[in-house]
Amino acid sequence: MRRILIQLDTDPHPSTFDRVVAVDAGIDEVFSYGAVTPQDIEPLVHGAMFTRGPQDLNSTAIFIGGADVTAGEKLLEAVTETFFGPVRVSVMVDSNGSNSTAAAAVLAARKHVSLSGTGALVLAATGPVGQRAVQLLAMEGASVRVASRSLQRAKQTCDAVAAAVPSARLTACETASNGGLESACRDVVVIIAAGAAGVELLPAERRRSIRTLKVAIDLNAVPPFGLTGVEMTDRAVERNGAICYGAIGIGGRKMKIHKAALQKLFEENDQVLDTEVIYRIGAALA
Ligand code: NAP
Repeated sequence: MRRILIQLDTDPHPSTFDRVVAVDAGIDEVFSYGAVTPQDIEPLVHGAMFTRGPQDLNSTAIFIGGADVTAGEKLLEAVTETFFGPVRVSVMVDSNGSNSTAAAAVLAARKHVSLSGTGALVLAATGPVGQRAVQLLAMEGASVRVASRSLQRAKQTCDAVAAAVPSARLTACETASNGGLESACRDVVVIIAAGAAGVELLPAERRRSIRTLKVAIDLNAVPPFGLTGVEMTDRAVERNGAICYGAIGIGGRKMKIHKAALQKLFEENDQVLDTEVIYRIGAALA
C-alpha cells in the first residue's frame, strides 16, 4: 500500500520545505493543500478516512504546517474532531518547524546538563519556537526565565505554557533594557536564543560574563546571530566554558526528528504528534 501524506498548510503556498522533507522521509505521495482553514477540513479529512479499509488506514496520514502556529492548532482541533471511533488517520503538527526545532534544541541541552531544577533562559521566548522550547524545558523540570522585549508578552507566554504544563516553574522577564537583560541572565545554566532571523539578542561580553553558563544555543541562522560569538555551524563547541550550538548545529538534529516523526505517523492510524510526542520521538533517537 502506497504511503500518502496529506499536507494541510495554513499559508497560501504549501511549504516546499515540508514537502521535500516528506519525500526524503520516504513517503510515496504528498498531497498538498494551501490556505486551509478549519471550515475546509471536513471534506479533506473525509477523503483520508473513507478511502482505505481499516487495516490500511495507517498508510494515510496528515501533516499540518504553515507559518501561523495558532492557525495550525485550530486545524489540528478541526481534524481530530472530524475523526470518529477507529475511523481515523495519524496526524502531526509542526507549524513553522516549531515543534521539531524546539525539541532539537532542548535535547541538545539535555545532552550536556540535567535539566531538572536547572536555571534556563529562553530569549525571544514569545515566538513559535521559543514558546515550545519553554514548554519542553518546563516539562523537564527546569526553572525557566521567559524573556521578551515586552514583559506583557513574556507573561502571556508563561500563561500559555502553564496551561499545558501545570507544574511549570516560569518567570517572565523583560530584556529590552540593559538591566532587564542582566537580571534575566544572572546565574543561568542554559540559554536558548529563539529570536527572529537577523536579530542580535545577547552580546558576546554579556554571555562570557555568565559564570554559571554551561550550554548556549542559538537558533537564528541569519546574521547578525542571536548569541554573538556563537557560530552558525557550532555543534557542541566549547566557548568560554560553555558548550555552544548554532542554528546549523541544531538543524541536523531537527531534520532527523522531523523525518522520524513523519515515519512514525505510518506505524499506527490513531496518533497525534504534537509538541510533547515529537519531543519523545526525538529523545528516542538520541
Ligand atoms: P519569530 O516568531 O520570527 O521571532 C521570535 C521572537 O523574536 C519574536 O516573538 C520577538 O519576541 C523576537 N523579535 C522579533 N523581532 C525582533 C527584533 N527586531 N528585535 C528583537 N527581538 C525580536 O521566530 P520563530 O519562528 O519562533 O523562530 C525562532 C528562530 O528559530 C528564528 O530565527 C528561525 O529562523 C529559527 N529556526 C531555526 C530552525 C533550525 O533548524 N535551526 C528551524 C526553524 C526556525 P518579542 O517581541 O517578544 O521580543
